[in-house]
Amino acid sequence: MANLRLSVTDRCNLRCAYCMPEEEYSWLPSDEILSFEEISALVDRFIALGVTKVRLTGGEPLVRRDLPVLVKLLAAKPLAELAMTTNGVLLATHARALKDAGLQRVTISLDTLRRDRFLRLTRRDQLPQVLEGIAAARQVGFEALKLDTVLTRGLNDDELEPLLDFAGSHDAEVRFIEYMDVGGATRWSMDQVISGKELLQRLTARFGVITPLPGRGSAPAERFRLPDGRTFGVIASTTQPFCSTCDRARLTADGRWFTCLYATGGTDLKAALRAGADAAGLEQLIRSVWEGRVDRGAERRLELREGRGPLVSAAELRREPHLEMHTRGG
Ligand code: SAM
Ligand code: SF4
Repeated sequence: MANLRLSVTDRCNLRCAYCMPEEEYSWLPSDEILSFEEISALVDRFIALGVTKVRLTGGEPLVRRDLPVLVKLLAAKPLAELAMTTNGVLLATHARALKDAGLQRVTISLDTLRRDRFLRLTRRDQLPQVLEGIAAARQVGFEALKLDTVLTRGLNDDELEPLLDFAGSHDAEVRFIEYMDVGGATRWSMDQVISGKELLQRLTARFGVITPLPGRGSAPAERFRLPDGRTFGVIASTTQPFCSTCDRARLTADGRWFTCLYATGGTDLKAALRAGADAAGLEQLIRSVWEGRVDRGAERRLELREGRGPLVSAAELRREPHLEMHTRGG
């Protein structure tokens, strides 16, 4: 276990169609949300067990009040990487404070460069704020930005080239992500997925020979180079799952720990922490769950083939918000 995705809130200021298609949600109760001190204590246990990279996520991590305070606490820990995935809406406001607090890397989700489309996809008219956020991130010194784009057939798959151009002119690398059948993706269907394979065929037809880059390791993205030298990533979690090399743990804002994005059950670390478990007890709990894990969630979904549809219904998500993507952090 080397990577920890740390969801700091289940709340979000957008309503992306593939993640939060409803307007109202069952939220985690606020007294259940971990304090920064509790998060810090749990992160220490994960570090002791091998975690070297922490990524802040949500919901939208920047709607969590005083996030730079948490960043500062985490930045003091022996981590190889401290990063954040954000929708970018509030990034212009917080970029400087985050950088000063010690955040190292930022990934911004960006599915379209067209304002009318952004409104349709996220139900909020905030593309200008996102673009300002990207500019601010660069201004304060975040380098090698990543832009994550979920492709949906008929919605934004005609923007491959504009997104590559935009990334190229912003010192960023775009990563095209397959639409996944998980959490709030209650309207998912396979025919909406642009597979990594189809994407590469399209880009080859447009640009010519595409070269795979070595060194993927356990990273979800496979990277490629266009003949003109620009690079991009492909995250093909839906059609080419990478369960066997997955080293990710996911901790929700209320301390539920999941060893797989598709898992239905998790381990309640907050309960253990608030019951007074000491460091050794928490580490023993985490170690035993991790060593016993047999998750192959995405591979099992692939085996369904024609029978594949949304993982959970909207009614189930209302009953159990921990199943939501915006609770697990993606
Ligand atoms: N709010 C932040 C953001 O959007 O970047 C962080 C949390 S969001 C859940 C993390 C990532 O999950 C985003 O890049 C988003 O596009 C992705 N995501 C959400 N639902 C998805 C789905 N059904 N398929 C693929 N990616 C999804
Ligand atoms: Fe969109 Fe991220 Fe919010 Fe989900 S959590 S609705 S992906 S911005």
